Amino acid sequence: MKRRLVTAGVALGVVVAATGVATLTAQADPIDPASPELSTWTVPRLTPDEAAELEALGFTLAHEHGGESHIIGDEALADEARELGYDPEFLDTVYKDVPPSAEQEGTYYGGYRTVDSYEADLQAVADANPDLASLHDIGDSWLKTQGQGGHDVYAICLTKIAAGDCETDPDSAKPRFSLIAQMHAREIATGEVAWRWIEKLVNGYGTDAEVTELMDTTEIWVVPVANPDGVDIVASGGDDPILQRKNANDTAGSCGDAIGVDLNRNSSFAWGDDSTNPCSETYQGASAASEPETKAVEDWLRALHPDQRGENPTDAAPADARDVFITLHSYGEYIIVPWGYTSDVAPNDAGLRALGKAMSDSNGYFVGTNDDTVGYSTSGTTDDFAYGELGVASFTFEIGPDSGNCGGFFPAFSCVDDSLWPENEGALMTAAQAAAAPYAG
Ligand SMILES: [Zn+2]
Repeated sequence: MKRRLVTAGVALGVVVAATGVATLTAQADPIDPASPELSTWTVPRLTPDEAAELEALGFTLAHEHGGESHIIGDEALADEARELGYDPEFLDTVYKDVPPSAEQEGTYYGGYRTVDSYEADLQAVADANPDLASLHDIGDSWLKTQGQGGHDVYAICLTKIAAGDCETDPDSAKPRFSLIAQMHAREIATGEVAWRWIEKLVNGYGTDAEVTELMDTTEIWVVPVANPDGVDIVASGGDDPILQRKNANDTAGSCGDAIGVDLNRNSSFAWGDDSTNPCSETYQGASAASEPETKAVEDWLRALHPDQRGENPTDAAPADARDVFITLHSYGEYIIVPWGYTSDVAPNDAGLRALGKAMSDSNGYFVGTNDDTVGYSTSGTTDDFAYGELGVASFTFEIGPDSGNCGGFFPAFSCVDDSLWPENEGALMTAAQAAAAPYAG
């Protein structure tokens, strides 16, 4: 763990020193072959063996869709890949320009909140709005369970609080919309979008009629940072955030800079068909829900949402089922509906797609299953758990475009307020307003 951070820090330090201001124009100019700058490259869709080969070489696997895979590495690494017969094409710089004036206490990379800042801000919102918000510790991060620092995982409940509201009991008076972000730590804009959603609801109560109506009738729960240990690693890079996706559990093997379990492959529903290689970005963990962060989110979802679906994969949740769940990821501009683990059509497919389409009317994202969008199956994902285990109408948002100043894992901070939040604000509102009857069409 420690060695990993030091190594990554040194490597990235060289990047900064060597490129400096030149990074500002890298998108417009052909990439300098001598540049050690981290870039995203596209290659034709990788087989699992090819992906493993490129990961072993030092690439970070980033994203897949259609016939294409995105891999992250510097130009020298791209040359090594070419020697192996691959043909990586430059797509984008990983790091966008950070305005020098943007440095603020408790933030990194131009304004993104650290985990400690999220915790302080959550507490402040709950303290200032006792009638609208209550903060819940839903479990521990892996490092905390090891006595090595780490964090609690926090959820905030937002509603006009009446007697019996915001209790972790699925038999709630109000229907519920639950949202998580930054389960994949490096998908940093997702936490900020979740944060703006919290602010909209708290600040809009009593002044915005739509928000007031929603808060009077619905409980909205938000986990802005589902993988706090991972986000600490990301933020440790400062203006050059570390590309940490997984949690900080390093017990499964020595992986250089690729430690951890992929929490979005570790859920207990349909677990076990993803990578068994601890060094893979999609390592599924030693067993279903082996990770404390996974357990925290699953226990919390079970405590919020009634079980409305049978055990059989073909059992549909009833038309009058309640509650909606969204997990925010990046990137690609998709709204992904279950199933992820199989190409079989989810029993509530029509209802899921109808609500997906209603949300897409706001953000313009493409609605479909894994097969329709990223083009691969996944097992042990949170959205399959929420839908498969509980019958909750469940979605993955992949926010932001593939490339450009607001694209990739590390969009410029200004993009959060310029595009990523505004384009998703209406979609989250649509999701929350559907919580009473998400499959009713
Ligand atoms: Zn993700």
